[in-house]
Amino acid sequence: METILVLAHTENDGSLAKSAREALHSAATLHKSLAGSKLVFGLIGENVQAAANSIAASPAIKYFGVTGADFSQSRYATDAAAAEALCKAAQATIVVAPATSRWARVLPGVAQRLGGRADTHVTGVTVADGRISASRWYYRQRMEGALTRTQRPWLIGIDPGSQEPCGCGAGAATVEIVTVNLPDAARRTTVVGIREPKADAQTIRPDSQLLFVTGAGWTKKQADGQTHLPEAEKLILDFLKKSRASLGSSKSLVDQSGEGQAVLPFLSHLNQIGQTGATPRHAKGLSTCCHGEEPHTVGWRFIGERRAVNLDPNCGWARGKADVLYVADAFKVMAKINELLAAGKT
Ligand SMILES: Cc1cc2nc3c(=O)[nH]c(=O)nc-3n(C[C@H](O)[C@H](O)[C@H](O)COP(=O)(O)OP(=O)(O)OC[C@H]3O[C@@H](n4cnc5c(N)ncnc54)[C@H](O)[C@@H]3O)c2cc1C
Repeated sequence: METILVLAHTENDGSLAKSAREALHSAATLHKSLAGSKLVFGLIGENVQAAANSIAASPAIKYFGVTGADFSQSRYATDAAAAEALCKAAQATIVVAPATSRWARVLPGVAQRLGGRADTHVTGVTVADGRISASRWYYRQRMEGALTRTQRPWLIGIDPGSQEPCGCGAGAATVEIVTVNLPDAARRTTVVGIREPKADAQTIRPDSQLLFVTGAGWTKKQADGQTHLPEAEKLILDFLKKSRASLGSSKSLVDQSGEGQAVLPFLSHLNQIGQTGATPRHAKGLSTCCHGEEPHTVGWRFIGERRAVNLDPNCGWARGKADVLYVADAFKVMAKINELLAAGKT
């Protein structure tokens, strides 16, 4: 009989992130298909009561918590000790955690301490013939693999954005506090602050409905024989501001900054989509001035509906890589879209 533990950490304000609700959804679905299994919840944070209350209507039969100021910040030593204690208290055989950066670096170490195994980047957990199967993508999201394990505990990191978040409602949860005796050495590392771009300079928005991708065409000479970088920059930034889309880029465009050419200053390699870039998850994607070559489009694996704007009717998108290709000038198309957005017509 499996005991499934959902492991979550609270956010700075004491709430639960969407990724934690996604892990809960995945674990609850697994619990439902595994006869005789138990579902329990383990929380780490300075104070976890509000977070436990927010999901009190979930099918979890018990809530465990490791609390206190030592557990408010992301730190390997304290997070690993807390996770280990929660797994032991719950006698967990399956541990499902959101693969946030905080959990992703801790799960393999905790599995090692418990004599278990850990799998990362899992995008689905199912039951077939009474056996639990976890699936994940390989070879830059080109192949999906499904694996089973006999070793317990089995720690499973669920990729954020890959599941529906659990819609379970709030209530009053009773949290059993688990005490962790930390050695002084576990407190050596301290988070002194967080440096992040200003909200309006943050162009990567994983929760956005739309991925907007720019390609090297924005920097190329246009029909008049000239480049139009200032215009390109204004069109792209205006669109991002109005649509709140997440900004992606082709490799060629982000590479140009390394080659000393005049480029769009708000793009970095973090925006790169593709084989050597990111594979984001969004409901829709719009590519502009990008050719749609295979190493680039492999990053579009998890985009629901793909559209592209390119002057070239023979571009890569035309070969089955986009649902809709507009053979058009992206400068004109985006100017029109921005005009419609400003007028509230889209
Ligand atoms: C091992 C390997 C890994 C790679 N990994 C990645 C990766 O992770 N991500 C990635 O992106 N690439 C990757 N590449 C590079 C990839 O193969 C392409 O070279 C790159 O994606 C091309 O970028 P691009 O389409 O922006 O530029 P280009 O190929 O220069 O295409 C520009 C496009 O803009 C169009 N255009 C120009 N003006 C306009 C206009 N006014 N309106 C509309 N369209 C216009 C042109 O018709 C053209 O199709 C990789 C390559 C290799 C070998």
